[in-house]
Amino acid sequence: MSVVGFDLGFQSCYVAVARAGGIETVANEYSDRCTPSVVSFGPRNRSIGAAAKSQVVTNCRNTVQGFKRFHSRAFADPYVQSAKSNLVYDLAPMPSGATGIKVMYMEEEKVFSIEQVTGMLLSKLKETAESALKKPVADCVISVPSYFTDSDRRSVMDAAQIAGLNCLRLMNETTAVSLAYGIYKQDLPAPEEKPRIVVFVDVGHSGYQVSVCAFNKGKLKILATAFDLELGGKAFDDILVNHFCEEFGKKYKLDVKSKPRALVRLFQECEKLKKLMSANSSDLPLNIECFMNDIDVSGKLNRGQFEEMCAGLLTKVEGPLRSVMEQAKLKKEDVYAVEIVGAASRIPSIKERISKYFGKELSTTLNADEAVARGCALQCAILSPAFKVREFSITDVVPYSISLKWNSAAEEGLSDCEVFQKNHAAPFSKVLTFFRKEPFTLEGYYSSPKELPDPNSTIGQFLIHNVVPQASGESSKIKVKVRVNVHGVFSVSSASLIEVLKTAEGEEAIETDQPAKEEENKMHVDQEDHKHQCGENADNKSEAEEMETAEDAKQAKKNDQPPQAKKPKVKTKTVELPIESSLHGQLSDEALNVSVENEGKMIMQDKLEKERNDAKNNVEEYVYDMRDKLHGVLEKFVNEADRDTFSLRLEDTENWLYEDGEDQQKQVYIDKLAELKTMGQPICERYMEAEERPKAFEELGRLLQMYMKIVEAYKAKDELYDHLDELEVTGVEKHAKDAMIWISSKMNQQNNQDLTLEPAVKVGEIQAKIKELYSACNPVVSKPKPKVEPPKEENTENGPVNEQEATESQSCNPDKATSAGMEQGAAENKLPEMDID
Ligand code: ATP
Ligand code: MG
Repeated sequence: MSVVGFDLGFQSCYVAVARAGGIETVANEYSDRCTPSVVSFGPRNRSIGAAAKSQVVTNCRNTVQGFKRFHSRAFADPYVQSAKSNLVYDLAPMPSGATGIKVMYMEEEKVFSIEQVTGMLLSKLKETAESALKKPVADCVISVPSYFTDSDRRSVMDAAQIAGLNCLRLMNETTAVSLAYGIYKQDLPAPEEKPRIVVFVDVGHSGYQVSVCAFNKGKLKILATAFDLELGGKAFDDILVNHFCEEFGKKYKLDVKSKPRALVRLFQECEKLKKLMSANSSDLPLNIECFMNDIDVSGKLNRGQFEEMCAGLLTKVEGPLRSVMEQAKLKKEDVYAVEIVGAASRIPSIKERISKYFGKELSTTLNADEAVARGCALQCAILSPAFKVREFSITDVVPYSISLKWNSAAEEGLSDCEVFQKNHAAPFSKVLTFFRKEPFTLEGYYSSPKELPDPNSTIGQFLIHNVVPQASGESSKIKVKVRVNVHGVFSVSSASLIEVLKTAEGEEAIETDQPAKEEENKMHVDQEDHKHQCGENADNKSEAEEMETAEDAKQAKKNDQPPQAKKPKVKTKTVELPIESSLHGQLSDEALNVSVENEGKMIMQDKLEKERNDAKNNVEEYVYDMRDKLHGVLEKFVNEADRDTFSLRLEDTENWLYEDGEDQQKQVYIDKLAELKTMGQPICERYMEAEERPKAFEELGRLLQMYMKIVEAYKAKDELYDHLDELEVTGVEKHAKDAMIWISSKMNQQNNQDLTLEPAVKVGEIQAKIKELYSACNPVVSKPKPKVEPPKEENTENGPVNEQEATESQSCNPDKATSAGMEQGAAENKLPEMDID
């Protein structure tokens, strides 16, 4: 399985992977670890990430960015409508009423769902992870803001599925940061000690998130979260853009907002200016050439002025900080550290305000840009059997109170009950009991809609089917399990009917829970307590809670006291009941399947288009390369007439590329290149031959001279070679002489050959000759001298003669010969054994 974490940011994304060496943030095809959250649609393909960002100005209407907060939003939602007026691309309603993105793609108008667009971005991130890991990626952990509602989360899960990802956990961004912080800390308090309290602040592009977390050795527990969606880097950009729109309106009489391209450029420049102001407090210029109507514009600003403009925005910094402290009932003195992340946390005035609120220096021990992705990859590694990671338990919170409502049989009206209060530990399951005679519906909803970022508070309806009365005609006991899962998504996950079987005569039919049928680690909540929780609701008789994390499950086990254990037992049977869920904003199965299929098709189309483009670029590159070389290095190797013809053909091709050849099928370009190469290749080959030929001749010359020297030494009775066989040495001499004749005849022929014609001898032939000579002569000359045991006394004076000789005779094995690609003889030195593992 793959171990990958994706930080799916509003403005940019990061990918972290786990490898043997640890967690690593990986770079995309542009060697950049940051991938812009941008998708651009073109007449033939899509571009995603950095390639799409480069089209933000040139193809602004079909280049989509800033869509993260459209997840699960209705088109009619006020946020969508207000965002729409500031976007340069178009939004349109999906058939379901959800927000869609309208673009021209493949020369057709298309409306893509947000799940599809995020799916496209995730496909790109998946590709980045795959090329880093060099294997397919599916299993992963993806980040979402802690304020995302159920439907937002389900929407991101669908996007992951569209991208072919298996998201093991949707992780809250600040929780991922907490994990990235805590898992490496060796000095956390012991489990029984007072936890270490750390506040995490993430200032991103779209918003500001704060969480407070309690750390003990081996675990982290989020205590509370808060957010402000008006306070992110984007809000500062908006202020700057509005300021310069006004200024340029007055100064140059330009209506910037009427021209999408100009507006996009202004956004880019304002963002740059904002970043510069973080590091610099002096006056900084903003210049844009040919901004609108051929007018160059310029302005300037300094940090002091900027902070004045943003004073209102900056007052928002404190609210979420105060909120988490109040929710967690903590005092500022309880806080051990305040860690800030998110690229916009670099804005000095934000840092100052956070620091002032807590009365302490902020910590920046984490990588502000990459901490979320790294935390996600760590979580994925914890979930993966392939990695050994330190035990670390993560308990998150339910961000908004969740209630259930239903038609109450007893009261003939609506009843409701809060099942998860805000900041309840998550993931978590609870079991509720109902007494019913017929199928019934539970509706999940957020009970404090004012806290939500989305005006919709419905989570979904859950219809419990197949409910029937007991044989006696009484209501049946229905156990309903509700849970907030690892993704932070609420559901009615199972329901069962407890059927009372016929009891033995005289025995009272009081049924008890069946511990065997229920999960082991269950905490039964006191009935009284429960009544208190659910008010006057007569239907809802008992509740059991179950923490899904290992830690709390252990804790829960201690409290595992079936409340009615003393009552006489009767036989009961548990019948699982089907649940029909109708979830708010959920993409239909059919729409999801179609999207999965379409994503596959679009990936294929992008691949084909890339191949087509590569084929076209190859033609273009060849034309430029040849044109340069025909009057450079290749000049000598082609006659004038051929050069003129080829030059003309290259010029025609260049023109063709801008005209008829601008937009052709891949094969047309492949054929075109092949056609050019039939003219160019022989010239290039002659050039290559001329380059390589002298080296090959030299090598052959060196070899045969060496053999001739050995033959002469043999003839001169040199004792180094006196063990060689005469006949064989004669053979060596003959081979060397033949080679000498061959080389001089070939050199002669080649010297008389015009360079514009086929060479008289090819490098390949010379190399073959080298090989032939080597295999004929080397076994003879490298024969080792037989060992003679010298008398002991002489040995001390003359040294190890034999060894020396052996070494020298081996030295006639020419290094150069081996480089010509021949196999080494058995008599040669053995290579040391190498442990390639
Ligand atoms: P979100 O977390 O909201 O989904 P994101 O993760 O894409 O968004 P980040 O990458 O954390 O957001 O932050 C991007 C914001 O940070 C942008 O507004 C960018 O202009 C801003 N930013 C980046 N560098 C600086 C800087 N040096 N000074 C001020 N702002 C900066
Ligand atoms: Mg972020």
